[in-house]
Amino acid sequence: MQQIALLGATGSIGTSALDVIARHPDRYSVAALTCAHNVRKLASLAKEWRPAVVAVAHKENWAALKEAMHEVNVTGVEMLAGAEAIASIAESRAVDTVLQAVVGAAGLEPTFRAAAAGKRILLANKESVVCGGETLMQLARTRGAKILPVDSEHNAVFQCLEGCDAAARANVRLWLTCSGGPFHAHPETDLESVTPERALAHPTWSMGRKISIDSATLMNKGLEVIEAHHLFGVPGERIGVVIHPQSVVHSMVEYADGSVLAQLASTDMRLPIAYCLGYPERLEAGVRKLDFASAMNLTFTPPDTARFPQLALAYEALAMGGTGTIVLNAANEVGVQAFLAGKIGFCDIARLCRAMLEKADGTAAATLEAILEADREARRSAADWVREKTAARGA
Ligand code: NDP
Ligand code: MG
Repeated sequence: MQQIALLGATGSIGTSALDVIARHPDRYSVAALTCAHNVRKLASLAKEWRPAVVAVAHKENWAALKEAMHEVNVTGVEMLAGAEAIASIAESRAVDTVLQAVVGAAGLEPTFRAAAAGKRILLANKESVVCGGETLMQLARTRGAKILPVDSEHNAVFQCLEGCDAAARANVRLWLTCSGGPFHAHPETDLESVTPERALAHPTWSMGRKISIDSATLMNKGLEVIEAHHLFGVPGERIGVVIHPQSVVHSMVEYADGSVLAQLASTDMRLPIAYCLGYPERLEAGVRKLDFASAMNLTFTPPDTARFPQLALAYEALAMGGTGTIVLNAANEVGVQAFLAGKIGFCDIARLCRAMLEKADGTAAATLEAILEADREARRSAADWVREKTAARGA
C-alpha cells in the first residue's frame, strides 16, 4: 500500500488524481491532503478519504479549516497550517509518494523537501522545475528521489524515452505539442483587449486559472520547454514547439535515425497521473480510448512567437541560465494575477516579463535559499511595475 501525500488536493490536478486513486483502493492510501484557501472542499475530501493529516497553506486560514472540519463532523485528523507545514508533509516518513499539484512557485519548497527526503515525486508543479533547475535535479539524484512528470507533454516524452540508452538520449530532439490556447486559431482577435473570461476558456483542456492564462499567452509552453530541458537533459536548441490544436499527440521524441516516437491519447490528465502512479505498470484510469475507426485529422504548424512573445522569452531565459528562469517565472505569476484582477491587459503580461528579464543578469542561484530570494526579489520588482502601470492608466 503506497501512502500518498496530495499537495494541492482541491485543484484541477488534485481532483483528477483522487479520481484515479479511487479506482485502485487496494494499492493507494491517502495520507495527507493540502490546499491554500478552499477549506470547505478540503474538509469534505478529508471526510471521504480520512487522511492522517490535512494542511492549509496560509496560517490565517487555520480557524476556518477547523470550523469546516467540525461542520462535516471529521475527527481524528491532524490539522496544520502554514507553508512550513506543507513542506514538512512532503518529507514526512509516513509518506512514500508526493503528488505535487500546488500551483506556482509556492510549490518550490515542498518539492525540494520531498527530493531531499528521497521520495517518489509525481510532479505537476512545473514552476518548481523551472525555478529549481539543475539544483533540484541534482538533489533528487543524490538523495535517490524519483521525479515522475505529470505534465502531459513531459509524461509523453518520458514514455517515448522508455528503453532509450544514454547514447541515444544524447542525440534526441524533443517536440512539445501545444494546443495554441483560445487565441492562436483566431488571428482577428485583438489581444490587447481580451478579458480574463475569454482568456480562461481553453479549447481542449479544463485546468486551473493560472495555467489556463499561461496557455493563452503560450507561456505555459515556454515554462514546459524549460521544464523539459531540466527533466531530460536536452538543450533548448533541441526542444521544439509545434501547434497541434487537436491535443491528441501529447509530445514526440525524434531520434538520430529520423524516427519520431509520439504518445497519443485523449485529453485527460488522469492518464499521465495514472502512468506516474503505477509506473512501471499501467493502470486503468477511466480515460476514453481514441477511436481510429472514425476519421481523425491531426495538424501540426509552427507557433507565432511575434503574436505570443512569451514563448520566445522562455528560450531567452533558458539561454541566460541562473536566475533568468526564476525571474521570468515570478514576473509571469505576478502578471497573471494582475491580469485576472483586471489591473493590467493581456499583452501587458508579456511586457512585464520582458521588462523583468531585461533587468536579470542570470547570476547563479545554486541553493534553495538563493532561488527563493531571487523569486522574492523578482516579485517585488514585478509588483512595482504593475503599480506604475496601473497608476499610469488611472492618470
Ligand atoms: P489549481 O489552481 O486548480 O489548483 C492549485 C492547487 O494548489 C489548489 O489545491 C490550491 O488550493 C493550491 N494552492 C494555491 N496556492 C497555494 C499556495 N500558495 N501554497 C500551497 N498550495 C496552494 O491548479 P492546477 O491543478 O490546474 O495546476 C496545479 C499545477 O499543475 C500547476 O503548477 C500547473 O501548471 C500544473 N499542471 C496542471 C495541469 C492541469 O491540467 N490542470 C496540466 C499540467 C500541469 P486552493 O484550492 O485552496 O486555492
Ligand atoms: Mg502541459
